[in-house]
Amino acid sequence: MGLFDYVNVRVNCPICGKPIEDFQSKDGPCYLSVIDPQYITEFYTSCDHCKTWIQYTRFERVNIIPEARKTPFNQEEISELGFHFVENHPWNNKEEE
Ligand SMILES: [Zn+2]
Repeated sequence: MGLFDYVNVRVNCPICGKPIEDFQSKDGPCYLSVIDPQYITEFYTSCDHCKTWIQYTRFERVNIIPEARKTPFNQEEISELGFHFVENHPWNNKEEE
C-alpha cells in the first residue's frame, strides 16, 4: 500500500541550483510507482542542499485516464496486459435447486 508516486522529473533547485530528481506526487495511483508529469497537476520534494520545500503546481485539468481507443481491446491484448478470466468466481457457484 503506497502513499504517493515518484515523479519522472529531474530539474535544478530553483533556489540553490543543485540537481533534484526525487520528486513525489499524490495525484496518481499512489502505488510507489514512477509516473510522468503530464498526468498530474502537482509534485514536490525537499532540496537536500538548501532545505527549501520545492513544489511545482499547475492549473491545467488532467485526465488521469486518457481517452479510450476507438477499437476495443481484444482477447490477446488484454492477456498481454496481464488480465485473466476469474474461474470459480463465487457468483457462478450457486447451486441450483
Ligand atoms: Zn536547493
